[in-house]
Amino acid sequence: MRILRATHLGTCFGVRDALALALEHAEAGPLTILGDLVHNPTVLGALETKGIAVAQDVAHVKTRTLMVTAHGTSERTLARTRALGFTVVEATCPLVHVAHRAVAALARDGYHVVIVGQRDHVEVRGLTGDLDRFDVVLEEDDVLALEEHPRLGVVAQTTQAIEKVRQLVDLIRRRFPQSDVRFLDTVCKPTKERQSAAVEMACQADVVIVVGGRSSNNTRELVRTCTRYCARVHHVQTDADVRPEWFDTAKVVGLTAGTSTPDDVIDRVEARIRQVEARTPGVAGAAEGLR
Ligand code: SF4
Repeated sequence: MRILRATHLGTCFGVRDALALALEHAEAGPLTILGDLVHNPTVLGALETKGIAVAQDVAHVKTRTLMVTAHGTSERTLARTRALGFTVVEATCPLVHVAHRAVAALARDGYHVVIVGQRDHVEVRGLTGDLDRFDVVLEEDDVLALEEHPRLGVVAQTTQAIEKVRQLVDLIRRRFPQSDVRFLDTVCKPTKERQSAAVEMACQADVVIVVGGRSSNNTRELVRTCTRYCARVHHVQTDADVRPEWFDTAKVVGLTAGTSTPDDVIDRVEARIRQVEARTPGVAGAAEGLR
C-alpha cells in the first residue's frame, strides 16, 4: 500500500505565527485566548498545558491580557474589549486582514457586502462586525433569498473552496443581471494550495484520509473536495480515529490535513496507517512492490 501525501497539507503560516505569538506572550505573563486559536483539539490541549487559558466570552476572561485569534475580529469588538481595560494581543492572520480591508473598501464604495462563508464562523463574524447591513451566503438557496441591490460586493471567508465561491458569484451575477457585482477573491493562498493538492491526490487514491479538527472549516472543505474525486474519504482528528477496515483492498491511500493540523498529528496518522497495513494480511499484501 502506498501512502500519498498531498503536496500541500497541514499547518499554514497564519496558524503557526499565531501559536508562536501565544507562547511568546504566555512567557511574559498570564494570557487568555478569546475563542479557539485554531479549530484543533490537539493544539488547544497543548496550549492548556502551557498555562494559557481559553475563554469563549470576554465576561469569562480573568487575565489582563487577552489574545484575538488568527480568525480576527471587528474594530468594534476590539474597541469594546480595550474599553473594558484589557490589553489586546492580535494574532489575526495577515490574510484575514486582507479580507477585512476588502470588505471595508467595498462598503466605502457603496457596495452591499455579501460574504461567502459560514454565518456563525468567528472569522465571518469578524468580517461583518463593523457593517450595519450585509448578507452571508453559503448555498445556492442563500443566493436565491438575496434582495436586489444596485451594487453587490462579494468577499469570501478565507478558508472557503474557491471553486464553490466562484459558482456562487456566478449565480449572484445571473440572478441580478442589472446590478454591478464586484468580487474580491479573499480565499487565502494556503487554502487554495491545499485544495488543489487534495484534488490531485484524491484522483489517484483508493482511500483518502483527511486530518483535522471536526469544527475546522478548511478541513471540512477538504473532505468535501476529496469526496468529489474519491468514493472512500474519512475525516479523522487523530490517529486514534483510524479504522483498519477502511483500507481493505486499498493500494493507494491519500493523506491531507487542514491548515490547523500540526505536523506531528499528521505523522502519527501516517504511522497508524502503516501499522494497520502491517497487521492486516489483506492490506499488507497489497503493499508489495509499491513502496
Ligand atoms: S487558513 Fe489562510 S487565512 Fe487562515 S490562518 Fe491560515 S493562511 Fe491565514
